[in-house]
Amino acid sequence: MDAEKLEHFRRILTEQLRQHTAQVRDSQAATLAMNATDDGVKDTVDMSLADVNQEIELRNGERESQLVADIDQALMRIDEGSYGLCARCGQPIDERRLEAMPTARYDAACQTAIEASRGEGDRPTL
Ligand SMILES: [Zn+2]
Repeated sequence: MDAEKLEHFRRILTEQLRQHTAQVRDSQAATLAMNATDDGVKDTVDMSLADVNQEIELRNGERESQLVADIDQALMRIDEGSYGLCARCGQPIDERRLEAMPTARYDAACQTAIEASRGEGDRPTL
């Protein structure tokens, strides 16, 4: 991948990192705020609603944290010179795929193979 393309993806990733970092912070702040307002005298409905909201915030926060980690790693790969190459087979990843998903580590064929090999039993339980 030429330097200009790399710079293009670096800009996209840096911008995404900025946005998602802000969201992680907001999400954590929201969770803390909910804990802080939970004074223990609410009725049961309010309590369970607060629990549900908190659960959603926590999950959003985890997802955002994972995204931030993915973006971080993509930026590291740009620095290392391995960005845009499939981590499994070493072939260049289609640039249209990278445009759609700048954090992609695998080309479409390997992604499909990896997902197929994970199978049914390995899904995260929610
Ligand atoms: Zn591959």
